[in-house]
Amino acid sequence: MNDDAIPQLDPWPAGIQVLPGSVTSFVGGQAALTASWEFAVQSPEHSILAGLEGRIGDGRLVGPTSPRNAAALRRLVPALRPRPLGLATSAGFGDRLGLATPGHVRALRAAGGSILPVFAQQSVRENSRTGRTPIEVLDAATWGVLAEGWHGSWGADADHLKTLDDIDAFAVAGFTTYTLDPGESVIVAADRMDVATLQREARTRIPWDEMDDDLDRMLARYRERPIVLESGPLPFTEEDVLRAAVKYGGAVAQIRRMAAHLEQAVSWPVEIEIAVDETESPTTPFEHAWMALELHRLGISWVGMAPCFRGRFEKGIDFIGDAADFEADFALQAEVARSLGPYKISVHSGSDKFSVYDAIVRRTGSLVHLKTSGTSYLEALRTVADLDIPLFARMYDLAREGFAANQASYHLSTDLAKAPPVDAAGIALLDNPDARQILHVAYGPILHEYGSRIRELLTAHREDYAANLQRHFERHLRPFALQAQSRAE
Ligand SMILES: [Zn+2]
Repeated sequence: MNDDAIPQLDPWPAGIQVLPGSVTSFVGGQAALTASWEFAVQSPEHSILAGLEGRIGDGRLVGPTSPRNAAALRRLVPALRPRPLGLATSAGFGDRLGLATPGHVRALRAAGGSILPVFAQQSVRENSRTGRTPIEVLDAATWGVLAEGWHGSWGADADHLKTLDDIDAFAVAGFTTYTLDPGESVIVAADRMDVATLQREARTRIPWDEMDDDLDRMLARYRERPIVLESGPLPFTEEDVLRAAVKYGGAVAQIRRMAAHLEQAVSWPVEIEIAVDETESPTTPFEHAWMALELHRLGISWVGMAPCFRGRFEKGIDFIGDAADFEADFALQAEVARSLGPYKISVHSGSDKFSVYDAIVRRTGSLVHLKTSGTSYLEALRTVADLDIPLFARMYDLAREGFAANQASYHLSTDLAKAPPVDAAGIALLDNPDARQILHVAYGPILHEYGSRIRELLTAHREDYAANLQRHFERHLRPFALQAQSRAE
């Protein structure tokens, strides 16, 4: 930015109490948030103020945190626009209530290092359950970034896109990372097919035309070309090739369609992540490599890949499974990502996986993205429980009643019978794995029924919510921050 263009401005008058950390200079003026979360701008240029919503006087404007002002703010201040994060170590913070960004910023600062954040991140499923739109998600993150004076890069992740229409909805809002999820085209039954069945299915079920390929050519390529990783060749058989093609061929074709559509839909720099984590079958390192090689052949670029890992990555609780077995497999996944990319391994449902963070960091180095979504909402419920336990008890009852329906699109091992009643456990419920999952998947009904009351409480107690988020996420980020920092040095 050209410093000459930043005018010398008077201090903010006593009548406008701005949050000191929020004061942000731009070419032609200064923007800030007031203590009551109103948007404040001062500028000697009337044309700047006239483009905003609010009350104007003495070269200043005070107005609402409205969609129009958010869009204007992003135009005025480049740092408040999301951007692609490339291969930098990064962490995604879903925010289902639109109030969590200040806590996320504080956790990043407290953890240190140079992790780049994704402050706006919502999946299509989350938006449909919360009734929010992509632009609302982006705006909420923008105001949070302004509030805390975050001037570094940050991303906006359109998460788990399954259709071309899904892409359009986020493109209109200006998102910068597009997580393509071809999970519905993955044929997990391939895991159990014998060779004869695989051969038949490979001829008939793979959309070869869309992949500019045919079965014999594909098999010949893999016969001729070994896949060499840092630790040596990745072993595979012709049966493995057939299985990978049957299992993920449709997914590769779908990613190609989606990537082509995305290119038409945006006119600004964006990046792609690929996610097959929400399928019933783990992705083997060879299957991961097969997808990567085929996507490269089709000219597709991406910055992150989320395979389906061994063991269970359930929402809001620690890893379930054999940690050594996970690490042995994960090490190869990370090697594939370095050798055939480089690109990042994206760890979805990444919150609360404390028992495997060290292994993840050890194996990926800095080439990793940690994606969390519902854990900020659980910290919102913790904040509510601190302030109004009867309200929390009603929400918990609602979550328990609806659990059978709420869990439908997730893979959970939750035992409803093991989740204690709220009067026995009180706020400690939020540290009980079964209760966490029951509350986690109930965000749709809970926010539908109690969303406005929750927002009211959190808005009146922003510092409490930010403190809970900081404490919770600092623990998540610290192992990754150490890695990001040592790489940067
Ligand atoms: Zn995911």
